[in-house]
Amino acid sequence: MKRYLLAPGPTNVSSEVLLAMAQPILHHRSPEFSKLLERVKNDLKWLFQTENDVFILASTGTGGMEGAVSNFLSPGDKALVVNGGKFGERWLKICSGYGVKTEEIKVEWGYAVKPEQIREALQRDPSIKGVFTQGSETSTGVAHPIKEIAAVVREFDDCLMVVDAVSAMGVFDIQTDAWGLDVVVTGSQKALALPPGLAFVSVSEKGWRQAEKCTNAKFYFNFKKERESIVKNTTAFTAPVSLIVGLERSLQMFKEEGLENVFARHQLLARATGEAMKGIGMSLFPKESPSTAVTAIVAPEGYDGQQIYKDLRVKYGITAAGGQDQLKGKVFRIANIGYLDTFDAIMAVAAVEMVLKGMGHPLKLGTGVGIAQEILLKK
Ligand SMILES: *Cc1c(COP(=O)(O)O)cnc(C)c1O
Repeated sequence: MKRYLLAPGPTNVSSEVLLAMAQPILHHRSPEFSKLLERVKNDLKWLFQTENDVFILASTGTGGMEGAVSNFLSPGDKALVVNGGKFGERWLKICSGYGVKTEEIKVEWGYAVKPEQIREALQRDPSIKGVFTQGSETSTGVAHPIKEIAAVVREFDDCLMVVDAVSAMGVFDIQTDAWGLDVVVTGSQKALALPPGLAFVSVSEKGWRQAEKCTNAKFYFNFKKERESIVKNTTAFTAPVSLIVGLERSLQMFKEEGLENVFARHQLLARATGEAMKGIGMSLFPKESPSTAVTAIVAPEGYDGQQIYKDLRVKYGITAAGGQDQLKGKVFRIANIGYLDTFDAIMAVAAVEMVLKGMGHPLKLGTGVGIAQEILLKK
């Protein structure tokens, strides 16, 4: 059975990138690798829309998130955490692991946080040192209003705007410098369409000033040391050289496409899968502000969303995603990120129709496919 990866991480990787990574191993202290790292560093700045140094960690996105707590907040400091899903919960867990106190804004799953909620919390407690949020909450398929939240945070001199952009960077517009984002984290296995194993972090001058005051214990995820290394086009420890070779190829492909087209691609695929699902009688889970990274679909009444996800994989070889926690069985998710194009979206819609039909759903095969085709048709 041929396998297809349409999960919101890890995502499908192009053969161009896979072949690039099959080259013999470079030594991480060689001049060749240093030159490669310099090119990649500049391309990452382009992707992040920043003049900050963007450095690379050998970890998944969560390692970058952990460092975004441990390098800026000391035990006893307070963080404001937006919790609208599984990844918001992760910020809370990381903070508690480092003795950082948290004020939580609990957002009902399927909704986005309101910038006013952030303002109220920061006014109530001016000792808060950082606002931690997701750009895109992958578990619910909702995008939080990063630009607007950042505009609020900017009014507070001692508070950092920290964004988990793991499923947002390279998907939709995230303007690190123009919006004043202090710490931005992303990872390799989402939009960049690389294997898992790299995290990327950008830190603003305001962020570095706060890092100077931070007393937290840290060693491997020491951002100051990573910054000192990346300005010299090297890494603090052995670099994951093959992944970085693949990263250069991936970023080249992004640059050839252009950021606007990258955002438009995700939007188009999200619209095609979303409208097709609605056309066969289902609804999308987000009640507002849907993220174009992943389409979260509510299973039809009386049908098990987890079974839809399983049948896609077992019967048709398509790995999408189920729902997590309270959404398990209620929702299934189809990614629009990774090396995907027109016919991946059409295939996903066709397969969902076939799975539902197989479960006894009365839909007419091809209904959703037709809707997706209309949206994706190139005239
Ligand atoms: C995938 C993802 C992460 C990182 O998870 P890892 O398993 O550590 O790579 C973090 N935040 C969001 C929003 C994600 O989608």
